[in-house]
Amino acid sequence: MMTLQASKSATDIDAFDPDAPIFDPAAFRLNDEQAAIIASARELGQRVFAGRAAAYDRDAKFPTENYRDLHRSGLLGIAIPEKHGGLGADYQTYALAAAEIGRYCGATALTWNMHVCSTLWSGPLADDLDMDAATRAEHERRRAVHYKRIVDNGAVYSQPFSEGGAAAAGGVAFGTEATPVTGGWIVNGKKIFASLSGHADYYGVLCTEVAEGEKASRRNTLYLAIPAKAGGVSVVGDWDPLGMRGTVSRTLLFKDVFVPEDAALMPRGVYFQAAMRWPHMFLTLSPTYMGLAQAAYDFTVRYLRGEMPGTPPVKRRMYPTKQIAVAQMQIKLEQIKAIWFQAVTEARANPTKEQVLRAYAAQYSAMEGANELATLAIRTCGGQAMLKSLPLERIYRDSRCGSLMLPWTAELCLDRIGREALYETGESDD
Ligand SMILES: Cc1cc2nc3c(=O)[nH]c(=O)nc-3n(C[C@H](O)[C@H](O)[C@H](O)COP(=O)(O)OP(=O)(O)OC[C@H]3O[C@@H](n4cnc5c(N)ncnc54)[C@H](O)[C@@H]3O)c2cc1C
Repeated sequence: MMTLQASKSATDIDAFDPDAPIFDPAAFRLNDEQAAIIASARELGQRVFAGRAAAYDRDAKFPTENYRDLHRSGLLGIAIPEKHGGLGADYQTYALAAAEIGRYCGATALTWNMHVCSTLWSGPLADDLDMDAATRAEHERRRAVHYKRIVDNGAVYSQPFSEGGAAAAGGVAFGTEATPVTGGWIVNGKKIFASLSGHADYYGVLCTEVAEGEKASRRNTLYLAIPAKAGGVSVVGDWDPLGMRGTVSRTLLFKDVFVPEDAALMPRGVYFQAAMRWPHMFLTLSPTYMGLAQAAYDFTVRYLRGEMPGTPPVKRRMYPTKQIAVAQMQIKLEQIKAIWFQAVTEARANPTKEQVLRAYAAQYSAMEGANELATLAIRTCGGQAMLKSLPLERIYRDSRCGSLMLPWTAELCLDRIGREALYETGESDD
């Protein structure tokens, strides 16, 4: 396994007291390589990212410094195979590491997810999908170019697919269109809520390939890495949201942007195949919120014990009502951890119906549960705990955003679980 380099910063303190892992490697049967990668993410998060999170949030500023540290530590290439210079983490290892980052800085974890997905989806996930030998060889050659940029130069990728309509929910073809031309495509369209806009080096855009006279079809979805500096790409609008402020999710416009064939992060038809056969690809937004759930609980225990840095050492733990609230939080946290761990562990191609329903349930549990825990934490810790000088109110605001993430919003998870539990494929009441 590649050696991980722990990043040092001015915020390092001599008496570093590391937090326990969210998922203890022995209890959750993780191997040493997994445990090392996850521990490196936790250490970077606790030592470095936690101290910077408030400023990124206050100023709605992209965590550029954190990305330099992610590159230095090797974590920018966490899901890139070792033969290409990455850490070679699988889906489960990535998810557990991302939860540890989310524990300390939600905006960094969420944007890091968009970046990592460009390598996870084009990497281990694509390896599970059908391609003829020539297509696979071409894909292997192309993805090596993307991997090299990330490993050698610290290139950052984003993943704008939302357009404001039903496309990001999986209902219709993306309105951003790629017209085939000699050597590539001309892309036109608009993406909203594009995290990392103005900060990514490449925008991993989902769009529809539409040849002259053809109708747009979801089957023809392309996943293209468009250079941020390409002619015709612009970032517009401002960004002043409730939470996840450091994600800088502004609007991206593409006006007659020429994109060469080598920019394809997946071959033709493979994104559609992935969406059908590898549904856990959409569960990757949840690790951030698993981490935020843990953070709300960690805060509460520390605060009630009178051990929260920056607050007077007043103990509140002796009150039965507060003990009950902590008990409720611990039960809720363990419930989220259990279903979420199971779902990220069984992510694979062609999951069973039960596994798919469980993935929706895990997403719902993490996204809604993180905010429920933050709400309970504020109620039981009390007024002084929600001052902006402490992380809890940021955890509360960031955690509120999880349910909004398409295609698996909390509403759409409920919708799918209810329908798919009651109807088999192709069944109707007509
Ligand atoms: C902090 C943050 C960061 C984000 N980063 C990214 C990013 O990097 N990339 C990205 O692509 N997106 C990102 N998003 C966008 C997110 O995934 C959603 O697309 C966005 O929140 C949807 O906003 P909306 O107001 O259009 O939602 P909605 O209006 O709720 O949904 C948009 C459309 O989806 C369909 N839809 C929604 N709910 C249902 C339902 N229950 N049943 C049927 N259809 C439904 C409808 O057609 C609806 O018009 C981010 C969002 C946030 C909050």
